[in-house]
Amino acid sequence: RLQEALAELKGDIRVLCRIRPLLPFDDKAQELVSRNSSVSGGVVHAVDDETVLVECTRPGHPLINKTYTFERVYGPAASQRVVFEDVCPLLTSFLDGYNVCIMAYGQTGSGKSFTMLGPHCQEEPAPPSEPRGDAGIIPRAAGELFRLISEDASRSPEVDISIVEVYNNDIFDLLANDSCRVASGMKRQVLTTQQGKKAVCGLTYQSVRSAAEFLTLVGRGLQLRAKQPTAVHAESSRSHLVITVTLATATSPPPQSDQSASTEPCRPGPRSPATGKRQSPPVPPRTRGHGLGQVAPDPLGQVHATLQLVDLAGSECAGVSGVTGPALRETSCINRSLAALSDVLGALAEGRSHIPYRNSRLTHLLQDVLGGDAKLQVIVCVSPGQRHVAETLQSLRFGARAR
Ligand code: ADP
Repeated sequence: RLQEALAELKGDIRVLCRIRPLLPFDDKAQELVSRNSSVSGGVVHAVDDETVLVECTRPGHPLINKTYTFERVYGPAASQRVVFEDVCPLLTSFLDGYNVCIMAYGQTGSGKSFTMLGPHCQEEPAPPSEPRGDAGIIPRAAGELFRLISEDASRSPEVDISIVEVYNNDIFDLLANDSCRVASGMKRQVLTTQQGKKAVCGLTYQSVRSAAEFLTLVGRGLQLRAKQPTAVHAESSRSHLVITVTLATATSPPPQSDQSASTEPCRPGPRSPATGKRQSPPVPPRTRGHGLGQVAPDPLGQVHATLQLVDLAGSECAGVSGVTGPALRETSCINRSLAALSDVLGALAEGRSHIPYRNSRLTHLLQDVLGGDAKLQVIVCVSPGQRHVAETLQSLRFGARAR
């Protein structure tokens, strides 16, 4: 009974681990070591489907022999399709009304974007609607979601998406119409709606009717994502990318012609005399079926489920990346937000009554999909290289804490 009660408090969190293959940009010394080693392919190994072994016996280096267990471990040969197969059931849960979150965690260069997006989403403004062999979770999820919707005539939900990046603890709208959206400080605030849900004030929600439309918007959002080259990996993403998909019943109110409410600045509501707490701002009725770039003022008014797909920023330490100045600020913001995420997941895993969601924008933004009856899948991505072993151990500890 205690176990059951604990399981209920913990919510539905699954932690998976993916070890990417050793790649040419991993250090040459490592390649030599692997070639001469009895276990080829680096110092991180998938022992079986649930166990990762970090084994470092190289002379002159600290001896490491540690194992971690997760719900699922993928070795370097695991295909994108195999990884997606474990994620796929969550899409059915989403259509059944559960809040769902799929996130990739790991140091820069460990394969997060490869896992979540695949190599082509990053390169092309409009990725193909039919997933290629190396397409990641997001393009596959888009295809599968619309396939499931088309299969079941009884479900005709409206699907909206928003895309934000959390950069230096600020939220930027990657679907907004303004040309200088990232630089001009269009920082969005997280607020609580009258339904008690988390929403980002004035955020653009775009209605999508197909996987192709979905992926076109993702491609557009990705082009704006802030990037900062670091010593670890030439094109490292220094922001958290959060794609939010909302499902609403088809019986939503008729579209509103007046958009003025959607661009109103976000102001907290008045304090309640009884509790002293601020009430959420009044929420106008939701608009639907609007064109590209238009804003839904109440993204959560009619919504019955939220799916968040998250490509987290790299979890490396500042010393490893060799960064200074503004990039150092980026790194410390990233590390603080990831520490806040770890604290939230740790508190959920321990079944604590207070979950510190408000310690960072990231966790505040993800609050609805982390706790309660939400289903969360964390994919811890690791590099097999000797050079990255400290970061790898840190990532594995993060994953272990969340379980
Ligand atoms: P991150 O998003 O964690 O910074 P990336 O996803 O950009 O890392 O991966 C770094 C590099 O490794 C990219 O060139 C990517 O194509 C490659 N890569 C990552 N995972 C795999 C994999 N499972 N198979 C093949 N190449 C991979």
